Amino acid sequence: MHSFHYSKGQLCCEDVSLADLADEFGTPLYVYSSATFRERYTSLDSAFEGVDHEVAYAVKANSNLAVLRLLASLGSGFDIVSGGELFRVLKAGGDPAKCTFAGVGKTRAEIEYALKEGIYSINVESYEEAVFINEVAGDLGLTAPIAFRVNPNVDAKTHKYISTGKSENKFGIDFDLIAEAYERASTLPHLKLKGLQMHIGSQLTSVVPFVEAVDKVAPLAARLKETYNIEFFSIGGGIGIIYEQALASGAESWWSDQPEESRPLTPTQYAAAVRPALEPLGLKILLEPGRFIAGNAGVLVTRCLYEKKGTTKTFKIVDSGMHQLIRPALYQGHHEIVPVTEATSAPEMVDVVGPICESGDFFCQNRELAGIEPGGLVALMSAGAYGMVMASTYNSHPLPAEILVDGDQAHLARKRQSYQDLVEAEEG
Ligand SMILES: *Cc1c(COP(=O)(O)O)cnc(C)c1O
Repeated sequence: MHSFHYSKGQLCCEDVSLADLADEFGTPLYVYSSATFRERYTSLDSAFEGVDHEVAYAVKANSNLAVLRLLASLGSGFDIVSGGELFRVLKAGGDPAKCTFAGVGKTRAEIEYALKEGIYSINVESYEEAVFINEVAGDLGLTAPIAFRVNPNVDAKTHKYISTGKSENKFGIDFDLIAEAYERASTLPHLKLKGLQMHIGSQLTSVVPFVEAVDKVAPLAARLKETYNIEFFSIGGGIGIIYEQALASGAESWWSDQPEESRPLTPTQYAAAVRPALEPLGLKILLEPGRFIAGNAGVLVTRCLYEKKGTTKTFKIVDSGMHQLIRPALYQGHHEIVPVTEATSAPEMVDVVGPICESGDFFCQNRELAGIEPGGLVALMSAGAYGMVMASTYNSHPLPAEILVDGDQAHLARKRQSYQDLVEAEEG
């Protein structure tokens, strides 16, 4: 599944030892595997072989230029949610004609930028936004390619902060209002109705909500093709990954013992489940995976600084925290925590916490872990998506460095910030 494994008692990313990387580049350190990015992209792409389709990687999951360049070289398109992400994709050699622009709050400057660069489609979240895009396109003397995002009102059964396909979420246009949105937009002179889009949520480990959404929306896509000659249907991202037991050699068999609805999806299962409703449409199918491609491709390497034994708890204090990986604090996200040098001691019940002045600053609570010792290195697994991209400098900690490994090669994909970088843009 991914490329992190122990070799001679040392945790490695492909053929590179994480301890060697920590020695050379310091901690905290994000380390990514090129092989995992390639394998994930290719496995999903090939699961849709025979269907006119395109994988548009959701840049927000991990937007490092080296990652984007790697995916662009594989032929990936990109799903962007801001002008800044478009800038990154272009800098990394991505093709704007394979970019879709999503998000509920696009500004005039962002819309102008996207139109001038010739992106494939702007995915529109309200009729009012379509009116505004029509006006901006008219001012530029251009035609804006658009798709409406439909909110299919299905329950993705994932964490409430990453559920997006229910009518109480801010995303998309209600299923019952979408036909009217197309009808009204079809009279706007500077728009081209190019597609239909949806995205119901993130970290879905069951195929059921995807099937429910695709089955519900496919007939609408067919009608829109007939009426407006749309050319694509984007079914969004959201495929979940393994966070638990990510490293154990028996991870696959561990998962197969779990109840079906909590097992991770394979690209083959996902494709097999949605293809029957999609194939008859004769539309180009867009996929927008973020976490699926990047999640298991990265780890966060941190150093244990102290052990603190209280009356009720043992705390392992490390040099990274919620400011650099916020998923545990924000989404109750689970990350496996393993020592970089394979443990020989017995597990103990611990909290792994960071240096930030917030009680929410923990990576785990009351977990049985072995080998987390002061001075030693620790890896937070499956941190490749929604990790570094959500990092801040809260408490004035400089941002970590990022490394992209390929085989036995390690590329410094982002330098560690310095104290001077922290204040560079400020006037004191
Ligand atoms: C975030 C997002 C994605 C990617 O979600 P993942 O769960 O990371 O696959 C895809 N499409 C849109 C519109 C998004 O906002």
